[in-house]
Amino acid sequence: MDKIGVLVAGACGRMGREVVKAVVAQDDLQLVGAVDQVGAGEDIGQVCGLGELGIAVETDLAAALRSSAAAVMVDFTTPLTVMDNIKAALAAGVSAVVGTTGLTAENLEEIEDLAVRTGKGVIVAPNFALGAVLMMRFAQQAAKYFPDVEIIELHHDRKIDAPSGTALKTAELIAAGRTSEPASKPAPLEKINSVRGGDYLGTKIHSVRLPGLIAHQEVIFGGQGQTLTIRHDSLDRTSFMPGVILAVRKAPSVQGLIYGLDTLID
Ligand code: NAP
Repeated sequence: MDKIGVLVAGACGRMGREVVKAVVAQDDLQLVGAVDQVGAGEDIGQVCGLGELGIAVETDLAAALRSSAAAVMVDFTTPLTVMDNIKAALAAGVSAVVGTTGLTAENLEEIEDLAVRTGKGVIVAPNFALGAVLMMRFAQQAAKYFPDVEIIELHHDRKIDAPSGTALKTAELIAAGRTSEPASKPAPLEKINSVRGGDYLGTKIHSVRLPGLIAHQEVIFGGQGQTLTIRHDSLDRTSFMPGVILAVRKAPSVQGLIYGLDTLID
């Protein structure tokens, strides 16, 4: 059996290190490259606490893609660099699995267009945790009966973008699941700017950033005399790894863009 060659962009980051460990633990995957802005020249195995793997961290993604024989690039970098990285992967004929959040609707359109033109696959998932995917699915179902809903997303204080990609995707699914409009409410008299959160497709989103948190979300529906709360907590970054590995295995047979892990699970 040919192993799928995997290059990790952002390999020295919090998520990247977990991806390296998860890839190395799979029999059918082979880590063939590690790219990051930090740790240049260091052995990525040492960076991840695995011991020597014989793969040095590189800083030039295009060169690493050319020399590594990667079939799939996994990207957990930053919202500022992810588009350039996806373009570099597709230009090198490499499929991409993207966990970096902060991509806009226009970005996704551009990725789809590029992926179709190159005949390669890009899988973008704002949340690779299975429980989060189910939370979004249940929220879409509940929206049919409870059009009034607010989202509270909570993340660690080093997250760059707000709201989270998961919150945006949840709001999109809720909008798709509603069969009636939310009740119209009087404009709030905000004594502190934006205290009622940001509105996206009729759902208020509130972003909490605190040390100690990883990734958490509550979707609170309100109805007559009742509320329904759906909550998901990623307590550890390993929670994302089964989803990332699933996407890596699927990516070589995908053409175009897949957005969201939900389309990959039954
Ligand atoms: P992080 O610890 O800051 O890791 C990002 C790494 O990428 C850093 O080492 C960073 O280096 C590096 N980097 C920056 N620009 C780069 C470039 N051009 N090429 C290669 N590497 C580059 O962040 P994190 O917590 O791992 O999160 C990474 C992303 O994943 C964020 O967007 C986060 O929201 C997202 N995320 C997604 C999921 C999901 O399930 N989809 C789950 C968790 C997190 P510097 O430190 O020098 O900038």
